[in-house]
Amino acid sequence: RKLKNGLSKTRKGITEKVDRIIGQYQKIDEDLYEEIEEVLITSDIGMDTTIEIIDTMREKAHQEKIKDPQELKRLLKEIILSILKDENQEKIIETPSIYLLIGVNGVGKTTTIGKLAAQFKSQGKSVLLAAGDTFRAAAAEQLSIWAERVGVDIIKHQQGSDPAAVIFDAIQAAKARKIDVLICDTAGRLHNKKNLMNELAKINRIIEKEYAQKNRCNLLVLDATTGQNAISQAKLFSEVADINGLVLTKLDGTSKGGVILAIKKQLGIPVSYVGVGEGIDDLQIFDATQFVEALFE
Ligand code: GDP
Repeated sequence: RKLKNGLSKTRKGITEKVDRIIGQYQKIDEDLYEEIEEVLITSDIGMDTTIEIIDTMREKAHQEKIKDPQELKRLLKEIILSILKDENQEKIIETPSIYLLIGVNGVGKTTTIGKLAAQFKSQGKSVLLAAGDTFRAAAAEQLSIWAERVGVDIIKHQQGSDPAAVIFDAIQAAKARKIDVLICDTAGRLHNKKNLMNELAKINRIIEKEYAQKNRCNLLVLDATTGQNAISQAKLFSEVADINGLVLTKLDGTSKGGVILAIKKQLGIPVSYVGVGEGIDDLQIFDATQFVEALFE
């Protein structure tokens, strides 16, 4: 239900428009394909992905000898699902685990950490937070508020201290307290790519010493409302860090949800979670089938 509500703007921008267009046609012709193509292009799915979708649609319609324009809706749904579906199973993160959240300021990192903490806690797991964004005083404060709300502890240092030292301390604390899930925040300054790269590399070196691959997860948080911008951020971050999954936030506030297709096509990084609101329960594990059902409902 939440996903359905969260996707209402995207649904209006894509599915309902395609619906209206298809309703105006008695038979399938090139004009129809062109009109559908236009809707997809203007909905942040991206040019390349749109062209691929339309080509596949045309091919399938031909193969299946489809005459009724209404059938194209089913084809569109099938094609979108096949793009979003992951062939290789989602990576399972074993406990004791460490999650490193990265992404530009304002995308919803802190909120996502709070929501994740609540989710793990409700599964009966013990959770610890690490305030790895030591650059902004407000970042640690915000995270502390979330820690309190969820009822978990937080490790933080003074503003301006070394983020890697915070993560190191948090790891020691997590081990000493036998914590199941450690969730770490990081700074999201993009203006200095070299600094960002060094900082993340240093943090990752510390993590890799203490946790095996199966216990680690680097999540990149992207703001869906930024559309194509989210894609350039994803490209940049995947150059500086090893990313295991994406969190696409603020889907509820945008008609640009189609960007998820462009991200999937262009980056090949699985979408792990989607944010559909500001509340503590508004983070969902991404499920392609559910997502597409909500989009086409
Ligand atoms: P950070 O700078 O990346 O840590 O971003 P914050 O976590 O502080 O979030 C920035 C703003 O986005 C806040 O007002 C959040 O409430 C809001 N936000 C985060 N995730 C979502 C979401 O999924 N949906 C909506 N509508 N707002 C969100």
